[in-house]
Amino acid sequence: MTITCGLAVGHASRWHLLALATARTWFLTRRGSGDGPAYDRDHARLTLYYSAQAHMSVAKAAACIGLPGHRMRAVPTDEHDRLDPAALRAAVTADLDAGLLPFCTITTLGTTATGAVDPLTEVTDLCRRTGMWHHADGAWGGLGAAVPALAPLYQGVGDVDSLTVDPHKTLSVPVGCGALLVPDPEHLHTAFAHRASYLTAGEPDALPWLSHATIELTRPGTRALALWATLHHLGRAGVTTLIEHYLTLADQLRDRITAQPRLELVAGGPWPVACFRIIHPAGAPDGLHARVAHRVQAAGRAYLATVAVNDRTVLRACLCNYRTSTEDLDLLIREVLHAADSDSPAVPVTRERPTHNQ
Ligand SMILES: *Cc1c(COP(=O)(O)O)cnc(C)c1O
Repeated sequence: MTITCGLAVGHASRWHLLALATARTWFLTRRGSGDGPAYDRDHARLTLYYSAQAHMSVAKAAACIGLPGHRMRAVPTDEHDRLDPAALRAAVTADLDAGLLPFCTITTLGTTATGAVDPLTEVTDLCRRTGMWHHADGAWGGLGAAVPALAPLYQGVGDVDSLTVDPHKTLSVPVGCGALLVPDPEHLHTAFAHRASYLTAGEPDALPWLSHATIELTRPGTRALALWATLHHLGRAGVTTLIEHYLTLADQLRDRITAQPRLELVAGGPWPVACFRIIHPAGAPDGLHARVAHRVQAAGRAYLATVAVNDRTVLRACLCNYRTSTEDLDLLIREVLHAADSDSPAVPVTRERPTHNQ
């Protein structure tokens, strides 16, 4: 992608909303139904596709632009938790046959639960053939495109129509430093440029109005400074090295889990996450993993959470702090085993919602 427009400062959830609103305008305008009675007819048939592992912010954004649940398709994933292109093709074909309007597919680069990267080129090909917009949710894993070892997985990332990245996840910058990247800002302008007499400078504007590309008019400006400073400090090579650090640690953590007879690795990768469960001689008692995660969190020396993988609640450890070291991995395993040893199902868990469970 030759990025000609990047909207920094915000959250992936909001950028999904913008991307979907933009995709809708683009799609309906091309059909000549951007307004008027044809709008209602076409809008009611818009259909959206995303992987069954997509972040919930995707469905939330779709609901915000007025798509009902029965026009959202959570497409099955393959054995590596990646969106299955054949299942996507089948769903799109069935919907076209039924007279619906497939308008957008959202892929995920680094799924929240297991760190999977969806197949980009297959999805772009299908989008081009069927007239859909391709939005990629790279909130967590978008910056993986910079890592040579992951290059094959990110092939085609330059051809998507819009891409969300959240440097506040991978680059340890303050929350709210997400960005939406698009190759063609005209699509954003078509969706969001509204003019007003009280907002003209009296002569052709020297600078583009950012409000022509997004929802906000006034906006906080200082958060982008932290992102700029971090990028300036790290440089492209520094970003790559940092992500490689996470990937190496995740490999090591997965190896440690596999080598530990009391633990079972369930999923994880290529993005730096490990999903695992505790092997219990008598079968894990109900709620064991939630209680273990809670105890580890409460002890305050390591952090991990739970997630559902194949309908089972398991532990999820995510590598996203630049200060994490291999010693921390050993500490985490010790903490988990200790928490499991002191487990007592009778103790009720009052869990606070994790504040940064990616
Ligand atoms: C965290 C995350 C989001 C949501 O990001 P916010 O910046 O918290 O809105 C969306 N998608 C994925 C894949 C994520 O990991």
